[in-house]
Amino acid sequence: MMQKDSRIYIAGHRGMVGSAIHRKLLREGHDNIIVKASQELDLRNQQVTADFFKEHKPEYVFLAAAKVGGILANNEYKADFLYDNLMIQNNVIHQAYEYGVKKLMFLGSSCIYPKMAPQPLKEEYLLTGLLEPTNEPYAVAKIAGIKMCDAYRYQYGCNFISVMPTNLYGPNDNYDLQKSHVLPALIRKFHEAKANGTAEVVVWGTGTPLREFLHADDLADACYYLMQQYNDAGFVNIGVGTDISIAELAEMIKDIVGYKGKIIWDTEKPDGTPRKLMDVTKLTKLGWKATIQLKDGIKEVYKQKFDTN
Ligand code: GDP
Repeated sequence: MMQKDSRIYIAGHRGMVGSAIHRKLLREGHDNIIVKASQELDLRNQQVTADFFKEHKPEYVFLAAAKVGGILANNEYKADFLYDNLMIQNNVIHQAYEYGVKKLMFLGSSCIYPKMAPQPLKEEYLLTGLLEPTNEPYAVAKIAGIKMCDAYRYQYGCNFISVMPTNLYGPNDNYDLQKSHVLPALIRKFHEAKANGTAEVVVWGTGTPLREFLHADDLADACYYLMQQYNDAGFVNIGVGTDISIAELAEMIKDIVGYKGKIIWDTEKPDGTPRKLMDVTKLTKLGWKATIQLKDGIKEVYKQKFDTN
């Protein structure tokens, strides 16, 4: 069990997920948290990572460091997504074994599932079909991470667990229009269109894909809970259990921002996977449920990021 003074390392604490876990640990009174900016500690480098573990000997590790991005970035920087993610996770998981970490949590994403898997996505559908091509490199890396955790558990008895969150949003999200995910991209597009009095906002794809959105603070809460409660191979989906279409999401954000213009659909841009809804039965049985409503969550992140009043 994690104690208040346990040495806890959060890999990727500047990112949306890592920063949410950091806030959660601080709120829970943990006072021996280890964090390092990626400029100081390049987790892609094996020696540097080994030296870090040797020096700090963390007892618990949240592995939230990853190269992440939306549909275009994933599709374009295929080599970087594969290389960076495999290197980071291999180094951290292996050094966690070398230095006797008591428990490690590896974080992935719902894109690990086959493109045409039945919905909602149950954990057992992993590796039952072909992946969505636009994010295959990222997915392959994350699947390797799950298998690494399971292999180290099997061969060496390490308590390494994996969790796969659905699409996330929250503080410290990426708002770069080329690299971000849909939710922050739309907040920014509608906000700027309103501020500039632009008549139309271009949204990618057909608007028909369905996505599920989880607030990063809910995710951090679930991670903290599972770090205490779950000690098994395989992985646990973390989601809210319901989804909405990109068209509905666009209307919701347009409304929250107060933009009065038109939405134009750019069907030259990819839709990606048609639906990506997590089955959260396993998580619910373990005793955890999301609490932040999508509309409330979007209002909050919009206010934090852009609100002028
Ligand atoms: P995905 O869940 O891995 O497909 O990643 P995204 O969040 O990037 O995209 C989700 C869906 O939103 C896709 O169907 C996109 O085509 C659509 N979408 C609509 N407008 C945008 C936008 O401005 N940025 C992004 N990233 N996606 C958009």
